[in-house]
Amino acid sequence: MKSYFRKEIDAIAGYVPGEQPKAAKLIKLNTNENPYPPSPEVRKVLARLKHVDLRLYPDPTADELRDLFSESVKMKRDNVIVGNGSDDLLTMIFRAFTSYELPVAVFEPSYSLYPVLAALQGAPVIKIDLDKEDFSYPENIVELAGNANLLIITRPNAPTGNCAPKELVEKVCREFDGIVLIDEAYSDFAADNCAEFAKKFDNVLVMRTLSKGSSMAGLRVGYAFGNENLIAGLMKLKDSYNVNRISQVLAKANFEDKTYRRKRVRQIIKTRMILNRELIALGFKVIPSQANFLFVSPPDGDAEGLFKTLREANIIVRYFPGEVTGKYLRITVGSGSQNINLIRFLKNLYRNE
Ligand SMILES: *Cc1c(COP(=O)(O)O)cnc(C)c1O
Repeated sequence: MKSYFRKEIDAIAGYVPGEQPKAAKLIKLNTNENPYPPSPEVRKVLARLKHVDLRLYPDPTADELRDLFSESVKMKRDNVIVGNGSDDLLTMIFRAFTSYELPVAVFEPSYSLYPVLAALQGAPVIKIDLDKEDFSYPENIVELAGNANLLIITRPNAPTGNCAPKELVEKVCREFDGIVLIDEAYSDFAADNCAEFAKKFDNVLVMRTLSKGSSMAGLRVGYAFGNENLIAGLMKLKDSYNVNRISQVLAKANFEDKTYRRKRVRQIIKTRMILNRELIALGFKVIPSQANFLFVSPPDGDAEGLFKTLREANIIVRYFPGEVTGKYLRITVGSGSQNINLIRFLKNLYRNE
């Protein structure tokens, strides 16, 4: 059949999300979800929801959430926009700041959705390679980003888990003549974050999600904050009712229970430390991680082989083919008991060799 699509649509395969298999007895460590349930407050609010309210549209700008999120980073409502997950915000940001004439600069490897969104816009992509051994950042990022209008720093980075040094990020924010988007999807698990740069610099947006640290990937809520002019511009191109009613109330219930969230995050960080230590003992190469996953290379370097072996044992992790990433697996840090099972399986596998 003749194609009626824009050439940009025909040219790409589309983003491939990590799978969501239905089998019950899986150890699912492939999409960086939180292994723990959201706050018990969410269950209470969910039970009180009135189905008749669903006939009404939600608050178009999710102002209660904007107040909550802006308060948490000591900014104002006008400095925050809420999205249907941060992927929704990424779509807005690419539509707003990239085009045929306005390239985007991204690091390689990083979140594989960025190049897909660029391709949909027809925007050129400037790739900045991380070090092929330890995934550290080059010093001359601003120079390498060339004439990009948007530069995305994922901090902690996915799928590698390491963080660009904060002083380097600050230097980039100061010197880069374009928008710097700091994607902090995993900052709950990191030693520090870059929220202050959204206040200090007019050209900086910081983006967060409730999907990872807050156990609410199924809810689809993310937010971005920065200069009010940037936020006002993004408001022009968002879908009118992009965050649904149920998500708005449940996100609020969850976000307000800070104590619970912190407790769960601390548990995951502790499990990350245990997994890190055990994998190193088995001869794995492990990239030091500030996120809720580890990027690891097995002793024999055969990451694809291990991916398949784990799969047959119903342990699902993520494999990214490619010259550099193909030597590694990305393993989400699961619950304590999932972790024990994973380590037991790997010990059997690598001790018998
Ligand atoms: C998970 C993730 C997102 C998307 O999060 P959602 O809010 O679930 O859409 C964005 N950026 C990075 C780097 C991620 O890993």
